[in-house]
Amino acid sequence: MSLAATAPLVEEVAPGILRVDSWLPFKGLKQINLWFIEDGDGWTMIDCGFAADSVRQQLESVWSTALKGKPVTRLIVTHFHPDHMSNCRWICERWNVRPWMTTPEWFAAQLAWLDLHTDNVAKSSIFYRRHALSEQLIKIYADGFLLYSDCVELPDTCRTIADNEQILIGGRTWRVVQGAGHSPAMASLYCEEEGVFIAGDQILPKISPNISLVYWDPFGDPLNAYLKSLTRLRQDVADDVLVLPSHRAPFRGLHQRIDELRAHHEHRLDKIRAMVPKGTSLTGADCMAGLFGADLDGQQVYFAMGEALAHLNYLCTLGEFKLVDTGNSYHYTHIN
Ligand SMILES: [Zn+2]
Repeated sequence: MSLAATAPLVEEVAPGILRVDSWLPFKGLKQINLWFIEDGDGWTMIDCGFAADSVRQQLESVWSTALKGKPVTRLIVTHFHPDHMSNCRWICERWNVRPWMTTPEWFAAQLAWLDLHTDNVAKSSIFYRRHALSEQLIKIYADGFLLYSDCVELPDTCRTIADNEQILIGGRTWRVVQGAGHSPAMASLYCEEEGVFIAGDQILPKISPNISLVYWDPFGDPLNAYLKSLTRLRQDVADDVLVLPSHRAPFRGLHQRIDELRAHHEHRLDKIRAMVPKGTSLTGADCMAGLFGADLDGQQVYFAMGEALAHLNYLCTLGEFKLVDTGNSYHYTHIN
């Protein structure tokens, strides 16, 4: 148990907006920020945190001390990933609310819960084997992957929200800015009059959101979707906003951070180009080892393979690489 789980960090980051630093059980990701926006007779809560007793105790304490005696009257969930949605059912039952989510995120949650989306270990293992991942790493992945259905509890209903929808919270307008790449249709929230941008995982300081190819979309291009959403954010959201990211501390300098994230992916693409001379080929597993090494735990194998394949497929979209499907294996040829 971390300190964050026993000593809630509640901080007012802007007028009527609270940040709660909430514990996560992941090796690489130790905390998530939950946001509370004062909303007339109640509060709008953003994201759910992890379904652990310590987190629930922390939330009970926040609810009873920091909300001025007012209830949670609305819950908005940025995207379906377990750190954002694990506690969802419990919060919904506690406050008689339902999650406001984009439709693709709600469907992704339902499918992941049934092991039919990101979390089908058997089908993902076949996919990784076709990309030449060793049996040793496939076993590490299969044994060490935390299943969505083991850590998330979903309510039966949601309230769908759409891109550009305007939500009135506490007398101020928040606009849904939908992103892609890290998850299907992440909802970020932009309050122009207050100069605040709740980014979800779309923009993070210091770390870059994982962009992963998944087994059921082998020719997909999530990195292209992510880079396009960065372009849109840079046009749509002012540079001087206070950015409230889901992980780590709030910051200013949105456009610079967007440029850094873009440069991070360009750098990774350059590393892959340098791994394989034109006219030669490499496998997804080779690429993963070149980028991330082989000393990985089960969750890390999933993220590392997903990232490597996402970058390779983007190089195919750019016309530089070609994905060759031999029928039972894949490889990538550097053609241009
Ligand atoms: Zn997250």
